[in-house]
Order: sequence, then structure tokens, then C-alpha cells
Amino acid sequence: MAGEIREITQTFERISAHSHIRGLGLDENLRAKDVADGLVGQKRAREAAGVIVRLIKSGKMAGRGILMAGPPGTGKTAIAVAISKELGKDIPFVQVSASEFYSAEMKKTEALIQAMRKAIGVRIRETRTVLEGEVVGLDYNMVPNPYNPTQKIPESATLTLATKDEKRTFSVGGRLAMQFFTQGIEVGDVIVIDKETGRIGKLGRSEKAKKKYDLGDDEVVPVPSGKVEKEKEFTYVVTLHDLDEANARRTSIFSLFSPPSREIDNEVREAVDEQVKRLVEEGRAELVPGVLFIDETHLMDIELFAFMNRAMESEMAPIIILASNRGFSRIRGTDIVAPHGIPLDLLDRLLIITTEPYSREEIKTIIEIRAAESGIMLSNEAMEKLTDIGEKTSLRYAVQLLAPAYEFAKMRNSGKVELEDVERAASIFADVSQSSAYLKKWEEKMLG
Ligand code: ATP
Repeated sequence: MAGEIREITQTFERISAHSHIRGLGLDENLRAKDVADGLVGQKRAREAAGVIVRLIKSGKMAGRGILMAGPPGTGKTAIAVAISKELGKDIPFVQVSASEFYSAEMKKTEALIQAMRKAIGVRIRETRTVLEGEVVGLDYNMVPNPYNPTQKIPESATLTLATKDEKRTFSVGGRLAMQFFTQGIEVGDVIVIDKETGRIGKLGRSEKAKKKYDLGDDEVVPVPSGKVEKEKEFTYVVTLHDLDEANARRTSIFSLFSPPSREIDNEVREAVDEQVKRLVEEGRAELVPGVLFIDETHLMDIELFAFMNRAMESEMAPIIILASNRGFSRIRGTDIVAPHGIPLDLLDRLLIITTEPYSREEIKTIIEIRAAESGIMLSNEAMEKLTDIGEKTSLRYAVQLLAPAYEFAKMRNSGKVELEDVERAASIFADVSQSSAYLKKWEEKMLG
């Protein structure tokens, strides 16, 4: 479980660097606007990406992939994120570096297939019986905690839920009462309880609670009408990989004693595919192919490429976007030199988008957008300095300095980042070329 938590936050952090990107910023004729949807410049690449989005939507990209080729920090990831945004708001976007396929935990092909299945969503519709309403009464029956008698915990509770039309009182058992207690549910909350699983969801607070607690408008939700107990339709997206993991846990007799193996059996995956196909046929689910973005493609070896080539043929394949900043290089695992280190049979299936270095003006605009996205104000001098840094070292480094520079501004009790804050941040944080040069020098010293 801890592993899962780590993975989700990792994806989250990676994507949040691109949270300002809402789409490709194209007009109806697929022409790129200078600045739109959070994207700046790189117009040719964005227009090419727009055409690809059309091809995907009309099913004409089946069995094919995309290659983004360009120097580091020219927005390859940014444009891949934009493509996924254009495809739909809840489609999965998975970013991996090819180096991550090589680990001690699992075979490299297994790592690739897991990445692919994380990038395919299944939108599931489900009808469930729920209790829904405003909490108008909640009384706990408190007893000493048997493990810590100085503390009291609820043994049971009496709950009254009200809609606009009905009021009902329930007696609540220990497990659910404990959930109410730990989640801090109180009178005035509007909640929904899944009758089968006993899971509680807090929807917000009622207008009455708003007055009492002086809450903001965004925290207030209307009290539902109709019956307290009702059938409700839920729609959610899980990935094929989520389903694989859940099924692997269920079928393994060892799962009680040891954490599930990181590798998943093929039979488990086949069973999941069958199950999903059935749900789709019954109209209860829909496949949502997402985007798998693979950085540093030249690190993939011939075996991984062959495996991917085959997997791309499957009807359950995500949209694969490879990124490369290499020209000709050796295909790993062979002596063959090929463009981007990619085998020719795969290259034949790829549509290639190239990205170019940014102009100073574009770098400045991107930093401005990132600052606005993070709610950071900058003086002109600070802005110019960050642009200099973006031009001389890298855009990524300049953007990353925003957060520490803002911390320094706050320490001066100012809400605005000044030149001195940027200089201070740049003096203590290194960019990659500085840090690697430093380590090289240090290594030389140790060896010499
Ligand atoms: P690459 O994948 O080519 O290395 P990247 O997309 O990862 O490039 P970074 O150098 O990490 O780009 O970019 C730093 C920041 O600038 C990120 O927040 C990214 O979203 C943003 N960015 C990059 N290109 C653009 C662009 N054309 N328009 C708007 N924001 C961009």
C-alpha cells in the first residue's frame, strides 16, 4: 500500500509542474495562437500536435505512436500534457523515464506493461444505495478506549439525516461511528453514506452551518431533496493497472502474509481484460485510453522496443509519446546506430514532432505564467533576472527558483519577489549542470 501512495504523489508532483497547461491553444483552423491555454510559442509543434489529436479522436492513430524530438527543456513534456488535456479531462497521463524500466523489483517488460496499463482508464458507472442528507443530529455513546483507557472513543451513535422532504434517525454501529468521529463529521455537514460499504463522503456544509461558522460560499452545498435513502449513480475512472492490482491481491493466497509481488501474472491481467470487456458490452463501462509519455527513449533496449511494438497493436493500448533529445545513437542491446536510438520498424510507426529552443521573450512569458499559476508576484528586476537564468542555464531551473525566491520574499515580510530574493535562491540552489560539474570535480579529487 505504501508503494501505491508513493506512486500517486510522484505522478502528481510531476504533473503539477505543468498545471498551467489546459490545452494546445489552437484556433478552429488548428493554428496556434501566440499564447493560449497556458502554452507559449513552439507553434509548429503545437499545430502538429493538434492534427494528431484529431487523428486520435477519429481512430486513425491505432497502432501508431508519436515521437517528440528536441533539445532538453523545449517543452516536449508540456506539449504531451497539452495533448492529453485536449483528449479529455479525466484521461490518465503517465510520465516515465525509460531508465525507470530497469529496476531490481521486476522485469523490464513487466515495468513497461504496467506503465502502459496505468495509462488506460476504465470509466465505470455504478448504481449504489446511499443515505444522503444534512446531519441534523449526531450523538455518540462514548466509552473508554480499551487500549488506552485515558481516551474515550464512540461505541455507537445516533444519527439523524434530513433532506428537504424527509428526516430519518439511524442507530450507528461502532465501526461507522468511529469513522464519523475520526472524520470530524458534525451537525450541518451534508454527507452521503454508501449503505453497502459504510463509506462516508462529505459533500460540504449546509447554508445553516455557513452562517454559524462564517464559511466561504465554495464550502456550502444545497441540502438534497427527496428521500434520505436512494439509488445514486456514480461514475469514476480507474486504470487497468488499478484493477490488475486489486485482482492480484484478491486471488493470491499469500496476500495475507506478504505484500503482493510487484509483478502481476498474465492470467490476472487476462481476467481483468475479460471483466472490462464484459462491462463495456453491458454498457456499464467505457475504455478511456490515456497518454503514456516516455522520456529519454534512447535508454530503451531492443527487447523493450520489440515488446512495445507488439503492444501498440493491441486494442487496449494507450497513446504512446516518446521523447528524445538525441540525434543518432546506438540502439541499446545492439551495435546498430539509428536516429534517436530507435529501431527503424518502430520509427516507421511514429509521427515525429520537433521542438526548438525558446526565445528570450518566450522564456519570460513562460516564467510569468508559472508565477501567476503559483500566485507569486515579481518585480521587474526579479523577472529579468529569472529570464537571464532561463536563457543561460535552463527554463526548468528558472521556473524551479520561483518557489524558494518567494520564501525569501516572505521572510522579508513582503508578498513580492525582488531581485535579491532571486539572487539568494540562485546562490544556494544549483542547476543540473552545476551540480554534476561539482560532483565530477569532487570525484576527480578523491581519485587523484
Ligand atoms: P522537455 O520535456 O523538452 O525537457 P519540459 O516540457 O519538461 O521540456 P521544462 O524545461 O521542464 O520543459 O519546463 C519548465 C516549465 O516550463 C514547466 O513548468 C513547463 O510546463 C513549462 N513550459 C515548457 N514549455 C512551455 C511552453 N511552450 N508554454 C508554456 N509552458 C511551458
